[in-house]
Amino acid sequence: MPRTLITGGAGFLGSHLCDRFLAEGHEVVCMDNLITGNPDNIAHLIGNPGFEFVKHDVSTFIYVAGEVDNVLHFASPASPIDYLKLPIQTLKVGSLGTHNALGLAKAKDARFLLASTSEVYGDPQVHPQPETYWGHVNPVGSRGVYDEAKRFAEAMTMAYHTYHGLETRILRIFNTYGPRMRLDDGRALPAFMGQALRGEPITVFGDGSQTRSFQYVDDLVEGIWRLLHSDEANPVNIGNPDEVSIKEFAEEVVALTGSDSTITYEDLPADDPQVRQPDITRAREILGWTPSVDRAEGLRRTLAYFQEQVEATA
Ligand code: NAD
Ligand code: UDP
Repeated sequence: MPRTLITGGAGFLGSHLCDRFLAEGHEVVCMDNLITGNPDNIAHLIGNPGFEFVKHDVSTFIYVAGEVDNVLHFASPASPIDYLKLPIQTLKVGSLGTHNALGLAKAKDARFLLASTSEVYGDPQVHPQPETYWGHVNPVGSRGVYDEAKRFAEAMTMAYHTYHGLETRILRIFNTYGPRMRLDDGRALPAFMGQALRGEPITVFGDGSQTRSFQYVDDLVEGIWRLLHSDEANPVNIGNPDEVSIKEFAEEVVALTGSDSTITYEDLPADDPQVRQPDITRAREILGWTPSVDRAEGLRRTLAYFQEQVEATA
């Protein structure tokens, strides 16, 4: 039975990965310090003999007894309000945490997969973004703590690949949504869902003309599974190329919830990327992967979860 370590496993994405890898017959070690994660995300897995939770900060030395076949490094604050509140922890988990996770993979002769991000492209001057684009990031801007940590993490991962011959994968994840996002994580979807369901004004930042391309979590998990089992060491974008302006996205959430919320406009945060859309040619060609859940369907699947969250916090 393969054994997979998932750092950040109690977070939004990590917990979906725990589910998928257990369902595929892996033993899963979920390592998380719960700084932005939620034990509720993995509560249903406690008691499963194939599942082990270890509370640990991966920016300090990682010890795991026994064999490990795969290390999926997902630990990191991920929403802008989280990483703006936790700038040093974000830099540490992207740098020291990635180094420790790579060191563990090397010691165990395991395959390593890094959760990188579309943020490595910064406020892009090439659109859509292919993996060959080097990006446009302000290292000392407020988002720099996240973007540069992930850029360093990619460089460190590639160095372990070329210098130590470690089997590594670099996944550039574009905006992903779905059940288990934190209602208060400040990202557009949880914010808009919460506001719409409570009948509060929807806070669109700037004039809402900035774009994002949102993918449903199940599509991402399938892409991760395929990338891990490929032999591609270069970065691969995984995202849904269906691009939408934030204003239209807010209107879609209002329409879906049947809310009578109106839109209010607030200041655009510093360095907020103006556009973002993945070029997924590489994922298509190398992994045979394309997203299969469109936004209307993905939002419908996510609504019930947010209804429960809003009721629980009412
Ligand atoms: P999340 O905040 O829900 O999950 C991150 C998890 O990492 C949390 O459970 C947190 O407690 C844990 N963590 C943070 N620092 C840690 C540390 N030092 N030691 C141990 N655990 C630590 O966020 P998410 O959306 O699930 O993101 C997961 C990963 O995917 C992150 O690396 C993020 O950068 C990447 N990513 C996510 C998206 C997205 O749209 N969700 C997009 C691009 C990249
Ligand atoms: N956004 C917004 N209102 C909110 C939260 C976010 O208009 O309450 C905007 C944000 O400025 C950005 C887009 O929505 O332009 C996506 O933001 P998110 O935090 O979800 O992701 P990221 O900026 O990291 O892509």
